[in-house]
Amino acid sequence: MTSGAPGVVVVGGGQAGFSVASTLRASGYDGPVTVFAAEPHLPYQRPPLSKKAHTDHDDLRVSLVPETFYGERDIGLRLGDDVVALDPAARTVRTRSGMSVPYAHLVLATGARNRPLPVPGADLDGVHALRSLDDALAIGRALTTARDVVVIGGGFIGLELARVARARGAGVTVVELTDRLLSRALSAEVEAHVRERHERAGVRILTGTAVRALEGSGRVERVVTSDAVLPAGLVVYGIGAAPRDELARDAGLAVDDGVLVDEQLRSVSDRRISAVGDCARHPHPHAAGPVRLESVQNATDQGVLVGRRIAGQPPAPYESLPWFWSDQGDIKLQIAGLRAPSDDVRLAVGDSPERLAAYAFRDGLLVAVETLNWPAEHLAARRLLERRTPVTAADLTGTTLGALARARRAAEVRA
Ligand SMILES: Cc1cc2nc3c(=O)[nH]c(=O)nc-3n(C[C@H](O)[C@H](O)[C@H](O)COP(=O)(O)OP(=O)(O)OC[C@H]3O[C@@H](n4cnc5c(N)ncnc54)[C@H](O)[C@@H]3O)c2cc1C
Repeated sequence: MTSGAPGVVVVGGGQAGFSVASTLRASGYDGPVTVFAAEPHLPYQRPPLSKKAHTDHDDLRVSLVPETFYGERDIGLRLGDDVVALDPAARTVRTRSGMSVPYAHLVLATGARNRPLPVPGADLDGVHALRSLDDALAIGRALTTARDVVVIGGGFIGLELARVARARGAGVTVVELTDRLLSRALSAEVEAHVRERHERAGVRILTGTAVRALEGSGRVERVVTSDAVLPAGLVVYGIGAAPRDELARDAGLAVDDGVLVDEQLRSVSDRRISAVGDCARHPHPHAAGPVRLESVQNATDQGVLVGRRIAGQPPAPYESLPWFWSDQGDIKLQIAGLRAPSDDVRLAVGDSPERLAAYAFRDGLLVAVETLNWPAEHLAARRLLERRTPVTAADLTGTTLGALARARRAAEVRA
């Protein structure tokens, strides 16, 4: 299957790197494909890590595919060997183990890393960030005994983990610096409901509160905030992520909070290098300027696009509709499209008070939909937004997107 010539080197064995490698083979690429993965684990999915508490690997089962998948497709998987340098002029990468590997095409799929917690005591035992399988196992083990859990950061991962800890019987406080939860991702209209549901489940939420220090002798015992001192046997922080774009930056490629790529996801500095997933900043028809998205949909779809292009299929611009989900205890939050802060948001209640949708309009047209516990409305939103079917606020008076989509389909059939 492989030839002696340099093939495709993928840096990063996560969701996006896996998508590139598997798509290359599915699309008939028969040159060498090598994935360098810093972590020692088979490529795995991260969403389950914050949605349940796990204490051992067997329990978790997050691998994207079994190990045999790679051998059967002649995909070289170099686990635990990260790429430490890139030389675009020589078209080679150097790995930690000392290999110099030539490439015909390089794909950067290095993901993102958690922003560190910039307060004294952040290095105490019992203080965790959550990104990797190993982080999740350490937190899962800590949750078997922790009574007081403080979650720093009211973002998706923090809130998911807060509900996991609550379900384990721990007392949980979420400390958020800004005046609302999920402030970067969610409309204020939906946030109010999310907050109310978490509080109803017994999660204490402190917004507009800064963490000043973590204290304890060796192990964390207290979180000192701008207003109070909170007892803490376990602290988990999730205060945002930064792209792992240093390989590209050090190699002289254009980088601006992510590797800058064009609409085909090629580095704007070097057409033989692509970047996909959390580490890439790309143009998108749904966004005003280049965006960097952190989601499974984005990582997967970008990997497919690049894999197909390198395999020789006609190049296409990246236009996939962004969508996202987050499971937080009894809340299933789903987002389709990209909302801007200036969009008009209209809230609608479904056929039960647990179901909510927020429709975001820009220049009079629907651009994004946030739903709570209403998967059918989310799917209808995806279908309509993907097809760029124009939907106005008037179209949605007294009806739902699901009903609107059905009515429009019926009209198409009649016509
Ligand atoms: C706890 C958690 C829960 C999440 N839940 C959801 C969810 O519910 N829904 C959703 O849509 N998204 C969710 N996400 C986001 C989603 O998982 C990411 O957007 C997705 O994994 C991005 O894929 P990626 O391949 O770009 O990065 P990653 O999956 O992070 O993979 C990048 C890999 O590259 C490796 N790497 C980095 N540098 C090098 C190097 N120099 N050499 C070799 N390897 C390197 C890293 O170690 C890492 O394994 C979640 C993320 C986390 C952390």
